[in-house]
Amino acid sequence: MYKIGLTGGIGSGKTRVADMLAEWGAALVDSDAIAHELTAPGGAAMPAIGQAFGAGAVAADGALDRAWMRDLVFRRPEARAQLEAILHPLIGQHTERAAAAAQGAYLVFVVPLLVESGRWRERVDRICVVDCDPETQVARVQARSGLTEQAIRRIMAAQAARATRLAAADDVIVNDGATSAQQLRARAKALHDRWCQLAAAPRRPPPCGTGLPE
Ligand code: ADP
Repeated sequence: MYKIGLTGGIGSGKTRVADMLAEWGAALVDSDAIAHELTAPGGAAMPAIGQAFGAGAVAADGALDRAWMRDLVFRRPEARAQLEAILHPLIGQHTERAAAAAQGAYLVFVVPLLVESGRWRERVDRICVVDCDPETQVARVQARSGLTEQAIRRIMAAQAARATRLAAADDVIVNDGATSAQQLRARAKALHDRWCQLAAAPRRPPPCGTGLPE
């Protein structure tokens, strides 16, 4: 299946774009949603999390106690690496399983930290970045979540810089403060049509002339 890696900073609009692509017939695999399922009540990561961090890490309903974990990571930064060592292999397995079962015109991996994690380049045919100016990111996330500006800027500072993300992109969807909902839809649709064409086209032959007469 033809594979697109869709990424963008927090508040850039990648969820909006992904929802439109799904509406038009793309298959989605969302790594944030998978991480969330793994730490929901009865999630596959919960036994290992309970074992590693103790009962305090598990809320009454059996889900990860996010506030408790945030506090622990703040006090003991090495706890983050411990949590990631549990989650990352499981996210990888579940992502592969979801991708293998996916059906659609092409497959979109929605990965907030795609550029940061490095190993995605060889796993997708194209990387698409939803691009937005930082001020608009802050305003959108504030309106959506009620997080403070400082908290949002801290999250943004931990993500790749705008220029780094753009440097990794094969395709860019501009969704800045001047972009209307209709413009965003038109930009996403143009790329969707292009990707459908690419997905339907025969794959490039391997390099080095395999199969050609000597
Ligand atoms: P991300 O998934 O990248 O964090 P979202 O797709 O959730 O971003 O978008 C962040 C917020 O901004 C959402 O509430 C979304 O509806 C809104 N939004 C995104 N793009 C636009 C736009 N062009 N005009 C107005 N609101 C937008």
